[in-house]
Amino acid sequence: MPNEESVIGRELRHIESTGSTMDDLAQLSREGAVEGLVLWTDEQTAGRGRYDRVWESEPGEDLLFSVLFRPRPAIAGEINMLLTLAIAELVDEECGFEAAIKWPNDVRVDGAKVSGILLESSQGAGGLAVVAGVGLNVNSRMRERSPGGLPAVSMSELAERRFDREELLGELMARVDELYTQVRRGGTVVPAWRERLETLGQSVQVTFVTGGGERKAVAGVAEDVDEAGRLIVRDETGRAWPVAAGEVTLR
Ligand code: ATP
Repeated sequence: MPNEESVIGRELRHIESTGSTMDDLAQLSREGAVEGLVLWTDEQTAGRGRYDRVWESEPGEDLLFSVLFRPRPAIAGEINMLLTLAIAELVDEECGFEAAIKWPNDVRVDGAKVSGILLESSQGAGGLAVVAGVGLNVNSRMRERSPGGLPAVSMSELAERRFDREELLGELMARVDELYTQVRRGGTVVPAWRERLETLGQSVQVTFVTGGGERKAVAGVAEDVDEAGRLIVRDETGRAWPVAAGEVTLR
């Protein structure tokens, strides 16, 4: 049954090529675009990840898109979680593999990255706007490419078949919409997201910026995540550090 309150993916807009769908959708957001608008493209000439890292893709083979959310501030922290969770579930179902989440924003299968997510927020006249970008390796050959020297894989390599990208995008947006509806009604995806986190129990080195603007490095064990999705890292002295927008390197 269609979700009557369906918001996410009610409009899918396609462009053949662009610099980055993040910039395009941010512009549409400033012009008053409705929540749930999805902008997808075949090719990005300046696809990016966190910290301006490059997102690579074979033109026409993968899913590259951004989604506009206009959440109330209290639930904004769940957006990254529900997106990574929806992608992991999609990969499970379509490829028959158990996908894991590398905190905070990578979806991986056996240590190889299938998808990366990027969130950019802004506060404007229309309130809070969150543009969420997704790069999902669909039909490209990623195994031998190792972008950034790190292992990567595509859904077609896992499933040994090609996918119709538009169909897959529709399916993914339906999942995202369902999870977002739950969250808007007061639910949370934290327990399901925590279940998927491969980072828990691992030794990690975290670099982050403190409230005072100082850059800090902490080595310890990733113990848990809290209700805001922050990683709790316990260092050698036993002190627990909640890390929000940090960078985790698995040791
Ligand atoms: P990580 O956690 O993997 O170190 P990150 O989460 O900080 O990286 P992202 O913003 O998710 O980084 O994505 C950028 C990084 O992802 C790049 O630096 C590169 O290593 C890797 N990458 C780029 N393109 C792809 C791709 N198509 N598939 C998998 N990984 C990619």
